[in-house]
Amino acid sequence: MFKIFDDKTKILRTKCKEVPLPYTKEDKQTLKEMAEYLKLSQDEEYASEHNIQAGVGLAAPQIGLDKRMLAIYLKDGDSTYKFGLINPKVLRTSVKKAYLRGGEGCLSVKQAHQGLVMRYYKIVVEAFDVFEDKDITITAYGYLAICLQHELDHLDGVLYYDHIKPKDPFFIESGAIEV
Ligand SMILES: [Zn+2]
Repeated sequence: MFKIFDDKTKILRTKCKEVPLPYTKEDKQTLKEMAEYLKLSQDEEYASEHNIQAGVGLAAPQIGLDKRMLAIYLKDGDSTYKFGLINPKVLRTSVKKAYLRGGEGCLSVKQAHQGLVMRYYKIVVEAFDVFEDKDITITAYGYLAICLQHELDHLDGVLYYDHIKPKDPFFIESGAIEV
């Protein structure tokens, strides 16, 4: 079981370092465990038994590692997305924005922050994926795109509530899609 660091910890505000490739066995193992943790966190029985919060994404700094790595385990409709990414880079983003209706949450943020986070509706990300064991390009829309942007932010020390406008927390950009 991981220790999840909270937003008062310096590592959560650190721009993380690139991971040298080829990756080490430890890095691959860490990403496998991160994805497994997310999967288990979505099992209600397991989560309540272990008193953990459900999550769909986890970035290495959240478990105390200064590394550009993140895991996603997300079910959206009939699709299940599972990634273990090293050195992800954003190739393209849409003009169109999207946001989660109820606002975002984070395993590292205990206090509630009311407000909406405007994200890109579509994002294209290139990364090394340890599950595929090769470089991949992800074209993500909607919920998956939002989740990726939230986790990518963690690698630069940015938290979701940094994006909430203090004077107008429920501001919606024109044309933004509710997810
Ligand atoms: Zn987070």
